[in-house]
Amino acid sequence: MNVHESEKICRLLEDMGMQKTDKNDDADVVIFNTCCIREGAENRAFSNIMKLKSLKIRNKDLIVVVCGCMPQQKNPKYDPIKDIKVADIVLGTYNTHLLGEMLKRFVIDRKKIVDTNEYIENIELDAIRDDKYNAYVNIIYGCNNFCTYCVVPYVRGRERSRKMGDILNEVKILVAQGYKYITLLGQNVNSYGKDLNDESTFAILLANLCEIEGDFKIKFMTSHPKDLSDDVINVLSNKKMVRALHLPVQSGSDKILKLMNRKYDLNHYLSIISKVRKAVPDIAISTDIIVGFPGETEEDFESTFDLIKKIKYNQVFAYIYSKRSGTPACNMADQVPYKIKNERVNKILNEHRAIVEILSTQYLNKTFNCLIIKPNVALTDAGKDILLKEKTKQIGVFKNIEVKSLVGKTLFGEIKE
Ligand code: SAH
Ligand code: SF4
Repeated sequence: MNVHESEKICRLLEDMGMQKTDKNDDADVVIFNTCCIREGAENRAFSNIMKLKSLKIRNKDLIVVVCGCMPQQKNPKYDPIKDIKVADIVLGTYNTHLLGEMLKRFVIDRKKIVDTNEYIENIELDAIRDDKYNAYVNIIYGCNNFCTYCVVPYVRGRERSRKMGDILNEVKILVAQGYKYITLLGQNVNSYGKDLNDESTFAILLANLCEIEGDFKIKFMTSHPKDLSDDVINVLSNKKMVRALHLPVQSGSDKILKLMNRKYDLNHYLSIISKVRKAVPDIAISTDIIVGFPGETEEDFESTFDLIKKIKYNQVFAYIYSKRSGTPACNMADQVPYKIKNERVNKILNEHRAIVEILSTQYLNKTFNCLIIKPNVALTDAGKDILLKEKTKQIGVFKNIEVKSLVGKTLFGEIKE
């Protein structure tokens, strides 16, 4: 999501006549698009911002902008005025569209601007897309779920869906421009349409997108297990949908899921996985896990560990629980010591590495519809490279690839005509 927001900021600045550079020394304006989902991300952003102090002494005209969800917090760990002195412009998640005006104002009066107001209306910005094949498209902003560990609902507000017609038009243009993957973005894409006063649902949106003509596929993230409907599962088997699904479980313990306010239990999650696998047998499933949530006992952790072994996820993003100020979990009893959290996350990551090795052997002699991204590289829907035994000129085209051999972790395959 942040990547796409940065793409939008780039468009806004290029439209003002600026040019992108990755070198701080060449820059007239440096933008930090921050994330505060975990403490580590916030600390990293702060230390990178602070590194600009010396550059600012050398280049008095340099303008430093800090935006994204870090300054949008009610009680930010790093205060935009007191702690982030090096920043000239600080803006929150609601007002990126005002950046151009703010820059013009700052150039004239050189007075620090801090604007984290919550604007009700969503202003859709155009983007310069960094990836040649993948285009991100926001479908819903904000989140109503209030998982007890999560800061997102506080910094991104309530759910706001874009109108279906606008999304369909944007995707039609992107497909005509040659994008091969359209990735729909939302904190919980399954909620799409609930706030619109019409018939729009996520399943209907997907079905309509699948009707668009062209050689492209649709991905989405993220999907909340509590309301992944049968209608959505039915659309997943459409050939325009990628054979990959990210379905964050967070924990395998019912007690912890309840404390997290996830609104589903393990049985419900398992029933969704089995419905999805029945509808699309070759689908790659990935997940997010939080270890060391307050109150997580060894037994609770073992339930999560068992779940990972059972589902055999293609990818697991495992995070150590991080206290976020203002969230209910922050003040819960029985916070887990860091040493234990660290041991648990490593245990999960090691187990997952072993699972990935087993899964790799299962790719042998199977055929995957892949995008050719280089003369000798094809990419599966789940983002795995298959090296081609013979080079091809059909770059940017979907082809069926049969996996012929496996050397270490590397897959080798051939185009199947
Ligand atoms: N809306 C998405 C998640 C967005 S945040 C969803 O509900 O699936 C991405 C991931 O960050 C989450 O799935 C969770 O695993 C992790 N995360 C969020 N808050 C966290 C916290 N306080 N500590 C550790 N991990 C966290
Ligand atoms: Fe955070 Fe839960 Fe909303 Fe995801 S669904 S953004 S984890 S509150």
